[in-house]
Amino acid sequence: MQPFVYNALPARVIFGSGTLSQVASEIQRLGCSKALVLSTPGQAKKGEALKAELGALAVGLYSNAKMHTPTSVTEDALKLLQKLQADCIVALGGGSTIGLAKALALRTDLPQIVIPTTYSGSEGTSIIGQTENGRKTTQKSLKVLPEVIIYDVDLTLGLPAQTTITSGINAIAHAIEALYSAEANPITDSLAEQGIARLAGALPVLAKDLKNSEARSDALFGAWACGSCLGVVGMALHHKLCHTLGGTFDLPHAETHTVMLPHTIAYNTPFAVAPMAKAAHSLGAASAAQGVFDLAKGLGAPYSLKELGMKEADLERAADVAMSSPYPNPAPLEREKLLNLLRDAYEGKRPA
Ligand code: NAD
Repeated sequence: MQPFVYNALPARVIFGSGTLSQVASEIQRLGCSKALVLSTPGQAKKGEALKAELGALAVGLYSNAKMHTPTSVTEDALKLLQKLQADCIVALGGGSTIGLAKALALRTDLPQIVIPTTYSGSEGTSIIGQTENGRKTTQKSLKVLPEVIIYDVDLTLGLPAQTTITSGINAIAHAIEALYSAEANPITDSLAEQGIARLAGALPVLAKDLKNSEARSDALFGAWACGSCLGVVGMALHHKLCHTLGGTFDLPHAETHTVMLPHTIAYNTPFAVAPMAKAAHSLGAASAAQGVFDLAKGLGAPYSLKELGMKEADLERAADVAMSSPYPNPAPLEREKLLNLLRDAYEGKRPA
């Protein structure tokens, strides 16, 4: 076996159905008694219900979490948190809500209990991306790593069809880049392969039957496995490009990952043959790039940047931003080739 380095992250993970009922005991287990509950506006009713169920253990609800964690929203939530003298943060939602929880933890060091309702994987990482004046910057700090993750499969039963597929592909993207990461190791390899296989098996079932609890359970477990990879090994071109497109051009996160992934895999495959053969095997496809493209397009997900509202004139700028700071990637970064990749993604071409 090749020598490797593996940095495990501490996490308490509770996985099952009906686990939302354990939030109160987890707050007490942390020695806390004044939780601030967070949600997006779309999930405010669920946030309100959780706050009511927590009774005296919850001091308030902030229901204005937004995608890409704008600092103006964080400052607004921080004011409420300080006014209420909250001693812990409970985030109920997807990556946007978890992003807000992390941004608050970064500023206050308060413990977080996160209850993911999408497959973004943010809950398993010490990474926080924040957007200010149209620029998204990322940092790593153990301060933002959630202390407790509660996965409740029941909460994902209502995740709409498109978000289910795109968020699932978002999770697969973490596993793909973990397989060819400069820090790849046998532990993340096995999590990545398992995560891809579970999601690739579950998504076609969910596309026909969103409330299939067996498939929901597989997808959520797959998301945890893929998110765990994201937390411990460095990502490359794919995440860099999606981060640029999301933060600079305000494109939706999971949809952008879905459109870009086949093209970034195709770019890297000649320099990551063995890892992408593992990915193809987990996808049950002959090629990882085509496998992801066919999976997403076949299930009705968006497959071109054009559909997401990207302007053709911005492709050059996106290539410049992606080239602006160096990072490890299997294939060398060449501006012309990157521009071709972005053009293919813009048009939604099936990778060769
Ligand atoms: P999201 O959290 O914005 O959720 C998408 C929409 O779905 C929202 O309107 C939300 O209210 C709704 N929703 C969520 N769960 C639902 C459910 N179960 N039922 C019905 N509606 C539901 O989207 P996302 O893709 O989960 O997260 C994207 C954000 O997460 C981005 O800002 C991204 O940068 C961040 N992210 C961060 C990391 C990290 O490690 N820091 C990793 C992945 C994603």
